[in-house]
Amino acid sequence: MQKRQLDIFSKILRDGGYDCEMYASTFDFIKDKGNVTEEEFLRIPFSYKSDIRANNLEKRSNHLSNTFGIFGSSGTTGNKTYYKFSMNDRAVFDRIATKIMHRVGANDKDLGIICAPVLDGVMAHTMMWEYTAIGGGYVNCPIPSPENFMSVLNNAHPTIVSGLPSALDFSLAPDFTVPEDSSVRLFLSGGSFFSNAKRKVIEDKWGLSWFDFLGVSEIFGPIMGECHMKNGLHYDPELLLVEIIDPDTMRPIEEGGKIGMLVITPLWNKGSPLVRYWTDDWAYIMDEPCECGEAGNRIFVCGRKNDYLSINGNYVFPRDLEQIVFSEANSPEVYVDLTEDNKVVVYTRGISEQGKKDFIKLFNTELEFSTLEVFENMKAHKPSLFSKKIKEYFN
Ligand SMILES: [Zn+2]
Repeated sequence: MQKRQLDIFSKILRDGGYDCEMYASTFDFIKDKGNVTEEEFLRIPFSYKSDIRANNLEKRSNHLSNTFGIFGSSGTTGNKTYYKFSMNDRAVFDRIATKIMHRVGANDKDLGIICAPVLDGVMAHTMMWEYTAIGGGYVNCPIPSPENFMSVLNNAHPTIVSGLPSALDFSLAPDFTVPEDSSVRLFLSGGSFFSNAKRKVIEDKWGLSWFDFLGVSEIFGPIMGECHMKNGLHYDPELLLVEIIDPDTMRPIEEGGKIGMLVITPLWNKGSPLVRYWTDDWAYIMDEPCECGEAGNRIFVCGRKNDYLSINGNYVFPRDLEQIVFSEANSPEVYVDLTEDNKVVVYTRGISEQGKKDFIKLFNTELEFSTLEVFENMKAHKPSLFSKKIKEYFN
């Protein structure tokens, strides 16, 4: 934690930026609100998704900045919640979005295709505003079926695709050919994991460049993004106080490369304040300077709290499995489960000897591999790469 970050936090706290019913007595123990010490900051309790859900919109709202709108979280990881998005949030968003977009080379000539349903959740709105922030344009594809996507592509000629990492999965079908006059040059994805192996397959197929960003829908949409090195997410430490929390000690991990829980305190006067927000994402600090030369900080987000395995102290995330299967087949589908007699079995369309070795190295145990026939029968019932049973077995 930097002294500068504590100074900014202290100023916002002293000036009432965190005033709301949900945090009514949270900061009472702090001696001098204009001068919060690191030890005091670390005593502030985390804010969990459950705290947000337990407090209604009014209890979480701060009244220092006019309301721009009321938006919701996506609800993908639990119940949807609504929050006040203030004029100040919008101003900060424009600053962050401009940085994210310019970093990947997007400009005012670009037209984005937004592959997301435009509902009350903040994500699709902020994906649109990313373009308006830089003077670019956008076209919505709220039901992004392959047919709808291709129709927008052929009629509006978008240059950038915004959506989930699965937005272009339909194009992995062997019989799909990218139109020769495709205008798409960038793909900006957030909201879920993807592997570099899959990134390469999609990039080669479309002749585009794919960049990841991190969206936290309780803060607002995109708050961090990749640069051309495609190695970790850049962010501004004067806007986001990021902690990587060791789940055993519940203290911040200072060293780079060690995985912990991502906790974020937005450092501005937010419409619905959040302090030490527990994101439920696993991440680590990247403490070496990025080769792109940009100052500021970087983290790598590994995966979600409810979708990982802990094997002999090592973490295995869905993107690790995808990395292996995409290295040899253009298929995103792979599942891991336990047999009746507790043997770990990998379900894929088929895998090479090298792929098997890679899986065995990852799991550090003997593995069984499904036949194609068994895989085809299994996949209709598989919502996640890891079954509940195997998570209980390892974690
Ligand atoms: Zn960089």
